[in-house]
Amino acid sequence: MNKEALVCTIGDEILLGQILDTNSKWLSEQLTQMGFHVKEKITISDEKPAILEALKRGMENFDLTIMTGGLGPTKDDITKNTVAEFFGDDLVEDKDSLDQVKRVFEKYGRPLLEVNVHQALVPSSCTPLLNNWGTAPGMLFKKEGKMLISLPGVPYEMKNILNERGWPMVKEYFETSEIFFRTVKTAGIGESFLMEKIKPWEDSLPQDISLAYLPSPGEVKLRLTAKGKDQSSMENEVNDQINRLRPFVNEYIYGYDDTNLSRTVGELLRKKGLTLSTAESCTGGYLAHLITSEPGSSDYFLGSIVSYSNQIKLDQLGVSNETLEEFGAVSEQVVEQMALGICNALGTSFGIATSGIAGPTGGTPEKPVGTIWIAVSDGSEVRSKLLNLTKERGLNIQYASKIALNQLRLWLSK
Ligand code: ATP
Ligand code: MG
Repeated sequence: MNKEALVCTIGDEILLGQILDTNSKWLSEQLTQMGFHVKEKITISDEKPAILEALKRGMENFDLTIMTGGLGPTKDDITKNTVAEFFGDDLVEDKDSLDQVKRVFEKYGRPLLEVNVHQALVPSSCTPLLNNWGTAPGMLFKKEGKMLISLPGVPYEMKNILNERGWPMVKEYFETSEIFFRTVKTAGIGESFLMEKIKPWEDSLPQDISLAYLPSPGEVKLRLTAKGKDQSSMENEVNDQINRLRPFVNEYIYGYDDTNLSRTVGELLRKKGLTLSTAESCTGGYLAHLITSEPGSSDYFLGSIVSYSNQIKLDQLGVSNETLEEFGAVSEQVVEQMALGICNALGTSFGIATSGIAGPTGGTPEKPVGTIWIAVSDGSEVRSKLLNLTKERGLNIQYASKIALNQLRLWLSK
């Protein structure tokens, strides 16, 4: 059984929507990585009753509770006193923390105030976690097989304290097992088709490896997670399973772990010494944005024409007036002329074009919202594709851009 954890962030600022609670995201990630089951995350106000209630819930119902926030020197920071009251502790001086507080004040040439000396006081039953990155120490309590850690709210202080001092103690106390995971990135196939294709492989996965499907517009990630104690054997096992998976869906796999579709396409273009441009109607430059989000994309990406109006399609891309009138801007014929046109206009080896009805308005019975044509061209040949997407504008833009990129990837990988 996994040990269960509660993550509790404290702060009116979070509840008022003034800051985003990024601490709990990081904590959940770290705890999951260590094999904990994070069963609940809560955010509470800087008020004694709320903090006491959370402490009670945490110590009664969870193996590990981690709290952040409210350890500063100001009046609104009441976590420390409340935690001390909860455990029936007095506040005692922690010499290492006092030295640290003095160091900080010396460094900035500021006089040491009573409130700052107070920062070096900790509840008598805790193990203080020295804060080398600020003035408020963290506090770690162990009681009847349970653990509570209270940390400052400032993200880099809380992360450093845990990495340096907290996590090693957590691992020792709970004798945690570790996890190892890798992500296989696929594009060009929907979640349920993918599931069908890899079913024989999935059914034969060993007990200690779990699989998660993580879909996002235009792609599905497969995350394989192994659990155990030895990192290198977990890594080998996960890699073996990925090797077994590959034959089932090879053409859909574009990369692993931190890579993304634009990087994969960029690497293919760079390797072959090819260049790219885009002619974007309904994606409005989003495709160019995805491509240029990759550092070094200037090696292969020359530019884009956001040909939103028909006039620009005619004047800049050489789309013919007759074609536009006969088939309309959202058509196979026009998108193909756009793809050819951008290759000519910008002198690139490849061009991608998009034209469609992103919505929410503008749909007709023949061409409802979500009707989008994409085309890829190498300047002579053109390959186009009709997409029937969603009713949501933002999603349609993302889908169309990813699918278009993937079409180019498939062309280049052949
Ligand atoms: P300080 O000594 O700075 O007062 P503290 O422990 O009292 O530290 P808070 O006052 O709760 O911590 O928060 C300090 C700052 O840290 C906040 O203004 C905010 O910028 C950031 N912070 C606090 N909690 C979070 C959180 N959950 N996620 C992201 N940032 C946070
Ligand atoms: Mg504070």
